[in-house]
Amino acid sequence: MKKQKKILSLLSIKNLSVEVGYKKIINELNLEIKPGEIHAIMGPNGSGKSTLAMTLAGHPFYKISQGEIFWLGEDLQLMKPETRLLNGIFLAFQYPREIPGVSFISFLRVCYNNVNKLRAEQLGKEFVPISLYAFKSLLLAKMKSIDFPAHFMNRAINEGFSGGEKKKSEIIQMALFEPKLTILDEIDSGVDIDALRLIGGVIQGFKKSDRSLLIITHYPRILNYIQPDYVHVMMNGKIVLTGDYKLAKILEKKGYAYVAGGKAQANVNGKAGLKLLTNFS
Ligand code: ADP
Ligand code: MG
Repeated sequence: MKKQKKILSLLSIKNLSVEVGYKKIINELNLEIKPGEIHAIMGPNGSGKSTLAMTLAGHPFYKISQGEIFWLGEDLQLMKPETRLLNGIFLAFQYPREIPGVSFISFLRVCYNNVNKLRAEQLGKEFVPISLYAFKSLLLAKMKSIDFPAHFMNRAINEGFSGGEKKKSEIIQMALFEPKLTILDEIDSGVDIDALRLIGGVIQGFKKSDRSLLIITHYPRILNYIQPDYVHVMMNGKIVLTGDYKLAKILEKKGYAYVAGGKAQANVNGKAGLKLLTNFS
């Protein structure tokens, strides 16, 4: 019975604490994401949002000192970072790295084939790598959907890309790998309003019954384009408040101090139509 409950959720984080250089950054955090759900985590700078994202992606710098993370019922901590991607977790970085000397198209094709090889194995199907020609037209279609010029495919990954172009390159990777869970860490930072509209549209269109999203942001603007099922407020390494999408609107107007002071909780019962799902513990 207990085991079945775990399988129902895609990602289940229980009582998680994470340390960076012996400093506790994530502090007894709980979060559950089911297939098809969009969660937004909002919080001021330094609240631990990127630390959570990096921990989920398996960055070795982030040490779990307490708690558990289950991915489809299995212990995520036992999976290497690359296994996490192959199993369906994709992180779009807040600060995407430049990789000189490796072209965008060749890197993405290798990743695409590896992901699909594992998927074919899991389904007991024969795997046939995609040809360069077929991959090029697939990639071009994804690039076009986000207004990303075709010549970028021959450039080194992220090298010399503007902030907005780096973010678009992360979105193209998401669209290619079709992960079960996409974690978007400040996908809106450094992006102009036209690009944000395009990115938001691609993300919202990407949602399906079996695809979930965790959108991390400290600025509610992106949520004009993507409607989350849950909005969590993170402060000091903990989720202190969870509501529906209207919570993001309230935060936009009132700021995080309003939530920290407990006023959001006091003001929402009924009138604002905001459904608070948890509150301060
Ligand atoms: P957010 O993404 O919410 O802005 P972060 O997770 O990046 O917050 O950072 C949370 C806290 O952890 C900050 O105080 C930050 O200085 C600290 N921190 C993050 N990464 C490191 C690191 N590599 N070394 C030392 N401190 C870090
Ligand atoms: Mg961050």
